[in-house]
Amino acid sequence: MRLADATWTDTRDADVDVAFVPVGSTEQHGPHAPLGTDTLTAVAVAEAAATAYGSRMDEPAGERRDDDGDRGDAVVTPAIPVGVSEEHRAFDGTMWVRPDTFRAYVTDAAASLPGHGVDRVVFVNGHGGNVEALAEAARRFSRNPDHGGYAVAFTWFKAVGDHASEMGHAGPLETAVLRATHPELVHEDRMEAARDGATDDWGEWVSGVNLAHDTEEFTANGVVGDPTAGDADRGRKLLDLASNALVTLAGAVVDRERNERNN
Ligand SMILES: [Zn+2]
Repeated sequence: MRLADATWTDTRDADVDVAFVPVGSTEQHGPHAPLGTDTLTAVAVAEAAATAYGSRMDEPAGERRDDDGDRGDAVVTPAIPVGVSEEHRAFDGTMWVRPDTFRAYVTDAAASLPGHGVDRVVFVNGHGGNVEALAEAARRFSRNPDHGGYAVAFTWFKAVGDHASEMGHAGPLETAVLRATHPELVHEDRMEAARDGATDDWGEWVSGVNLAHDTEEFTANGVVGDPTAGDADRGRKLLDLASNALVTLAGAVVDRERNERNN
């Protein structure tokens, strides 16, 4: 169920266990992939997981199940499309907000939901720069008794098994998912140039410290990793891995008792 496509009456009558809030970015993804890549991938994972969540049948009966024993659904909210991306500021089209703004906006947006009976939230993230601020937003949301809910943050490319080590930026993983979900937005004719201009590693590391605050310091075209190594078939596998992980997480989030000590 997509929240933005539903009416308020549909939403009132729905049996919703959990909300997936996609969180992305608007930032350079090399010469071959769109600025909205992180939002597109986050939405794709959230929607695949919501479909799978609603149709799963093999879960043990949890205390939050309905009287008839059925699971409810997962709702996918509108995506939050601008995140913590200042590190890409040298590249045209990149937009960003300060981490404080991001945390406050994300937390407030999620706080709208418990009043409608949706008190479990998973932020479904597609951008590495959002990870820290999003984890903090989930903690703030969960600790504030006024919100009356519980949230966690999930980053899809950390939940794809051995593939995760190849993440890079606009590299094989993101390119693969886009080729599977939005091939019309991938510039195949620029793929070799994207690969040839890419760097292998994210950052400039000394004694565990990244000396580079901005990505332009270590990649001229914005790409880290080999985008040609991510075909559509790999993209579908990544979507399966990430959405399955999200379904498992959502089940645990729904069944978990919220920490009520602050109430
Ligand atoms: Zn990205």
